[in-house]
Amino acid sequence: MKIAIIDSCDNSYVTEPDIEREVLATKADVELYHVRNTSELPAQVLGYDGLISWHLVPLRAPFLGSLRQCRGIVRAAVGFDNIDLQAARERGIVVANVPDYGTEEVADHSLAMALNLLRRLPQGHAVVASGSWDWREVGPLPRLSQLDIGLIGFGRIGMAVAARFKAFGCRVRFYDPYVSSGVEKALGVRRCESLTGLLQGSDLVSIHAPLTEETRHLIGSRELEMLKGKYLINTARGPIIDCAALADAVSDHLLAGVALDVFEDEQAAIPMLFLQRNEVLLSPHVAFYSQAALPELRRKAAQVLLSLLEQGHHRNAIH
Ligand code: NAD
Repeated sequence: MKIAIIDSCDNSYVTEPDIEREVLATKADVELYHVRNTSELPAQVLGYDGLISWHLVPLRAPFLGSLRQCRGIVRAAVGFDNIDLQAARERGIVVANVPDYGTEEVADHSLAMALNLLRRLPQGHAVVASGSWDWREVGPLPRLSQLDIGLIGFGRIGMAVAARFKAFGCRVRFYDPYVSSGVEKALGVRRCESLTGLLQGSDLVSIHAPLTEETRHLIGSRELEMLKGKYLINTARGPIIDCAALADAVSDHLLAGVALDVFEDEQAAIPMLFLQRNEVLLSPHVAFYSQAALPELRRKAAQVLLSLLEQGHHRNAIH
């Protein structure tokens, strides 16, 4: 069998396909390609049996339709919004993801962002760097145990984030129309039936939903208005927030703080406004990462692909 790892030239995730070759050993030949888009791939890839797909290279219908014998694609990630699932299905290709490598990391990163915003650590650092030791210059700090936290999306990461906020004594609520009734009882959190209810009742909102047609620009100017004086964190996917509306909100000092690990267009320059404001905290789509998570992700992606190719299925297959 032949397998291609399709990674991006910029911000690549895999330098050497050593882990994948170890997992697939005698079963398949593994080649690694660093490209900007699939048109840069050599023609022989169209005859490969399986693919491992990384974040920045979209797999769209024309490419998927031209694959001759591909039976499985594994998205080396949780989110699979860069793959045209319908086109893969029509070609008889099973697509799977790796949902269980970085839940703790993303949850920890969300909390790190929340604590930085709420305890105003960048502002505190700036005060000390300016030569002052005056605690009053840091600004107002809320008491964590008095806060209502709102989570959009209550899957693996949302639940892990809830557990962490609860450890700080916060009240946690979530909006997720697809989570079965009773999860709120099991985990001691509150369910909101509407996004509006969640936004209005929360001091800090953190996003943990996938990017879908339904969630694209879920947070626009109307929703941002409801977050006036509050905090917003996004470690899910950039396009869930309307970037132009967020820029307006930041420009108007509408929010108390905003932290983004993901951005609407991560290949374009970040608007200067976001870099100049000390109530804005950015990180370079790194929430998934730890020295343990990345090798685990690569190993699991190769294992899942092997199951797809040998058995035709895996429980991570996306339906
Ligand atoms: P998950 O599938 O376990 O949970 C997602 C939840 O969102 C589900 O419960 C689903 O019902 C809910 N949801 C779907 N549509 C919704 C909507 N319209 N409104 C509210 N909720 C909705 O996924 P997860 O493992 O918790 O990961 C969540 C997302 O985090 C992923 O889709 C991925 O895009 C993102 N992610 C980012 C990083 C990073 O490095 N920043 C790393 C991993 C995952």
